[in-house]
Amino acid sequence: MATMRVVQVSRPNGPLEIVERQIPEPGAGSVRIQVQACGICHSDSVFVDNQWPGLQFPVTPGHEIAGHIDAVGEGVAGWRTGDRVAIGWSGGYCGHCHSCRYGEFVHCEVGMVTGATFPGGYAEYVVAPESALARIPDELSAVDAAPIACAGLTMFNSLRRTGAGPGDLVAILGIGGLGHLGVQFAVKMGFRTVAIARGPEKGELARQLGAHHYIDSTASDVATQLQNLGGARVIQATATNAEAISGSVGGLGLHGELLTLAALVDPVRVSPMQLINISGTVHGHPGGASNDLEDTLKFAALQGIKPMVEVLPLEKAAVGYRRMLANQARFRVVLTTEETSA
Ligand SMILES: [Zn+2]
Ligand SMILES: [Zn+2]
Repeated sequence: MATMRVVQVSRPNGPLEIVERQIPEPGAGSVRIQVQACGICHSDSVFVDNQWPGLQFPVTPGHEIAGHIDAVGEGVAGWRTGDRVAIGWSGGYCGHCHSCRYGEFVHCEVGMVTGATFPGGYAEYVVAPESALARIPDELSAVDAAPIACAGLTMFNSLRRTGAGPGDLVAILGIGGLGHLGVQFAVKMGFRTVAIARGPEKGELARQLGAHHYIDSTASDVATQLQNLGGARVIQATATNAEAISGSVGGLGLHGELLTLAALVDPVRVSPMQLINISGTVHGHPGGASNDLEDTLKFAALQGIKPMVEVLPLEKAAVGYRRMLANQARFRVVLTTEETSA
């Protein structure tokens, strides 16, 4: 019987282990994907640490998947064997709940999540519903596409839904897995872009990524610096640090919007007085559905946006996961299978 290598976590907070499993067959409405690359996202820890309601162990994390379809289930329309596809956090949608009827697929009430509803991409094969699939343009390799499936999508899709227009000041707080893509997207979308991170070293990186300004949060007050630049129309908070996010709120300008994007349970402090005079708002944003992901991949291909990655073989998933947790990854760890080099 044909088997595949899969990373599994067999108990909450347990180690990431490689196991052999039978290669699954796609059921009706699903396809099987031969995984070529899968990014390691901070949100994978939500599953490993058992913070996701109703999660069943063993768990296989991984929601930044890129590969190609190698088997198609019954009733699937529009997808064929060989199609290059990506899958993000949204593991599909039902098409008939209240949210879906309003076109809000990412808020589907069935709540299908890659890595929770079905085993994720730290594996050689994944079976997923067709509604989870986004096409990868030819210009992007699997390694380039994988981090865009969650990190890139979160930055692009949240920013395009704000009220900011070309030339407005957009601040990216935190230059890691999300932020290093966010700076590139904001610049290419036509915004005056300011990168904010800890320490002087990231200033050079910010300039390489195209940022127009850099604020070292250890050397100066972020809110004051943003106000000196005219006040931010949008702050995209990617830092997993509630204090840093709270400290940036005073940097919002007229109609300023704070977008909280990092999955964080710690409260962020915002006083009504910080929002009233500017008619400011605070919102969250959940990445996007497969149609949003396809838009993001197309935009990245059009504008030459690529992630900076550390590539590791699937067997080294535990090493890569530790690097991500310790904030050592520059800037996204991507796991690859042998198929990638073939
Ligand atoms: Zn993610
Ligand atoms: Zn639905």
